[in-house]
Amino acid sequence: MSKYWSAVARKLIPYVPGEQPKLSQLVKLNTNENPYPPSERAVAAIAGELGEDGGKLRLYPDPNGDRLKAAIASFYAADGVSAANVFVGNGSDEVLAHVFQALLKHERPILFPDITYSFYPVYCGLYEIEHVAVPLADDFSIVADDYLRPNGGIIFPNPNAPTGRLLPLAEIERIVASNPDSVVVIDEAYIDFAAEAVPTAIPLVARYPNLLVVHTLSKSRSLAGLRVGFAIGDAQLIEALERVKNSFNSYPLDRLAIAGGVAAMNDRVHYDTTRRAVMNSREQLTRDLHSLGFDIVPSAANFIFVRHPQLDAATLASALRERAIIVRHFRLPRIDQYLRITIGTDDQCTALLSALREIL
Ligand SMILES: *Cc1c(COP(=O)(O)O)cnc(C)c1O
Repeated sequence: MSKYWSAVARKLIPYVPGEQPKLSQLVKLNTNENPYPPSERAVAAIAGELGEDGGKLRLYPDPNGDRLKAAIASFYAADGVSAANVFVGNGSDEVLAHVFQALLKHERPILFPDITYSFYPVYCGLYEIEHVAVPLADDFSIVADDYLRPNGGIIFPNPNAPTGRLLPLAEIERIVASNPDSVVVIDEAYIDFAAEAVPTAIPLVARYPNLLVVHTLSKSRSLAGLRVGFAIGDAQLIEALERVKNSFNSYPLDRLAIAGGVAAMNDRVHYDTTRRAVMNSREQLTRDLHSLGFDIVPSAANFIFVRHPQLDAATLASALRERAIIVRHFRLPRIDQYLRITIGTDDQCTALLSALREIL
């Protein structure tokens, strides 16, 4: 803190991301990255955009990312999505930041679960938005009835983070339909891992002008390092986001991100193959941890949320770390005895299991 800091900077309580260790030999299961490489077509498109001498980088990118919006609209064309329904940003974290400012800042407090993505309260602090933390049920499920009360907006991830629990689409629709005067934001960062037939809320967008669905290419498309996220909603909601974006940064997505993002959206085979592999490993790891005595919250994401009745979570996390495996432990009320473990490759899951057997 110094006298040069603004009043805003003084008050901020920033988000703390999971550790990105410099050591490469670690089994890194702490930030829900995809264990598989991205689409080869995306990598080739990025290399193509860079070209022999990188000369295109001399020029600004398309400020609107129109090619990427078109590719996203085409992926969801069967749900009635067109480019006017798509907003793109530098990672879904940036998209979410604009959502808080453009659509969730009203007189009344917004609602989100007590256990959820810990960036939401940070955005509330940044934009001075009041919120009410709505407790999850004891089994960590979201209780739809608790969101049928006056509010300035609603946001939660589905599947929720860090629990991994999925709220059925009918319950999402009930919340959206019961709140016609406020925006309901469903953060679907992990929805592609939920099931073979993805239970996304995107098809509801055509019927509900107050629904905004946020996605990222960081998890199911293995592109966390590229920083691409998007939102799908009624054209009026998208316009509000564009107004904030164009008052903040004209070129949030660089040329490589646009080129790679387009190719990744177009490579459906890679998307389906890798998300299936992650879902299969999740089911296998769940069975294996169960046999080691772990309690596991049913997960529809690329991570599982677990606890061991005989072992303290912080102790377990540091014992794993001594064996070069890192997982995420949140020192927060209700969940301080849980660990969030990202689904890794089969080799990484095997390494995790043998370390756990040793510790137990
Ligand atoms: C990972 C994650 C994001 C952010 O993803 P980026 O696109 O990489 O910024 C957003 N919401 C939730 C719930 C996440 O877990």
